[in-house]
Amino acid sequence: MEEAMATPHALVIPIPGYSHIIPLMELSYMLAERGFKITFVNTELIHEQIMKALPDEYSNLKNPINLVSIPDGMGPGDDRNQIVRVLECMSSAMPSYLEELIEKMNKSSKDKITCIIADENMGWAVTVAKKMGIPQAAFSPTNACLRALVLRLPQLIEAGVLDANGKTLKQEMIQLSSTLPVIDTARLPWHCVDDPMLQQIMFQEALKNNQEVKDADWHLCNSFYEIEQSAYQLNPKLLPIGPLLAGSRQRQLVVNFWPEDSTCLNWLNQQPACSVIYVAFGSFAVLDQTQFHELALGLELTGHRFLWVVRPNLTDGQATTYPDGFQARVAARGSIISWAPQQKVLAHPSIACFLTHCGWNSTLEGLSMGVPFLCWPYIADQFLNQAYISDIWKVGLRLNSDDKGIISREEIKKKVEEVLGDEKIRERVLVLKEMAKKSVSEGGSSMKNLNDFVEAMKGK
Ligand code: UDP
Repeated sequence: MEEAMATPHALVIPIPGYSHIIPLMELSYMLAERGFKITFVNTELIHEQIMKALPDEYSNLKNPINLVSIPDGMGPGDDRNQIVRVLECMSSAMPSYLEELIEKMNKSSKDKITCIIADENMGWAVTVAKKMGIPQAAFSPTNACLRALVLRLPQLIEAGVLDANGKTLKQEMIQLSSTLPVIDTARLPWHCVDDPMLQQIMFQEALKNNQEVKDADWHLCNSFYEIEQSAYQLNPKLLPIGPLLAGSRQRQLVVNFWPEDSTCLNWLNQQPACSVIYVAFGSFAVLDQTQFHELALGLELTGHRFLWVVRPNLTDGQATTYPDGFQARVAARGSIISWAPQQKVLAHPSIACFLTHCGWNSTLEGLSMGVPFLCWPYIADQFLNQAYISDIWKVGLRLNSDDKGIISREEIKKKVEEVLGDEKIRERVLVLKEMAKKSVSEGGSSMKNLNDFVEAMKGK
């Protein structure tokens, strides 16, 4: 007799980075609400970090997401800042660990994995899924424009803009379509590291991933159609299902790498509407001490209220130090915390603008909450995101460095005044906020794509 249709069971696997885990976790919750079982696979180290940062009450909650881990192929004491080695170890060791995990789960007919949703940067996981005959989706945690660019790498090599190792031969400003941001070929994502060897490896990884994910059954991304329509003509298979945000849903599990300081919400409650500059640089951007001090003095110079996230590892080198007397001078109007509940902060009525490193999650979160931006990109896709914010959507301003490469306190004060005084920026970002909301509401473009995906995965 035919076996009864098994419960759909998605195995979800992000690369070991906070900003990749967050949207995939949100997608997992949405699938769980639609009747899926979810097994969420992290590397052992990340798994441990997440479990450590969980609030005490977690053990009493019934979580619909099963968090599991597999080794990343490195030794316990190995330096995971050696990105080259991390990449090599992961792609050589993780496929067999993943296969083993799936085989183990598949032994029980009620736990059988029915689809795999893999971060598109883990192309090997798509290969494992294909080999095991499991339907698969490649998930891009960023925008469609970047994906279109990555798909065009062979043409850029052919045209002599890049060499076969991703080195820029001709510095050009390229624009994939007139409504997409201009991209500087000297600032492509793999140029974010100085080491040429590492650049080469990152570029080769991008090419390899392209090959591995190109025939995936589904291509999903955390964006929405309305903000970058022409990018989807360049990526006909790509379905935007974002913005993937926690929204007002009661979440049982909040994934954090550092314990969240929610006392800042009480502090925000005491501030006037639209009065606070929120400053945060995501999960891995690093500032040097000189720049860090200049930012502190810039915030002081603005005279405005501010909420500043200073992660334990935000500054390079030794422990973080502030300019002399800074903390006492700003105590009445500035709050400094180590990790914020960012989505809730951005949704708070006291927030006036968001000084951000322009990570894609932060960009989508600011847009979705209707907050004007001040852009301070650091690496990778953040320059492209800055161009979307300031040049295409026109919902924020760039902070420019001086001839010593520093964003000065005067520049910070000037741009804060400009962005706060620009009504047009506020009007435009509120329009985008509505579009974002609509796209993930019933009948909206992203919701429709998600429902199509869910139906297909349930039917297989
Ligand atoms: N974030 C947070 N609390 C903070 C700072 C950041 O929860 O104090 C979250 C933020 O909401 C976003 C993620 O960290 O979801 C950062 O992702 P993004 O893509 O913006 O930057 P990345 O960490 O990749 O540089």
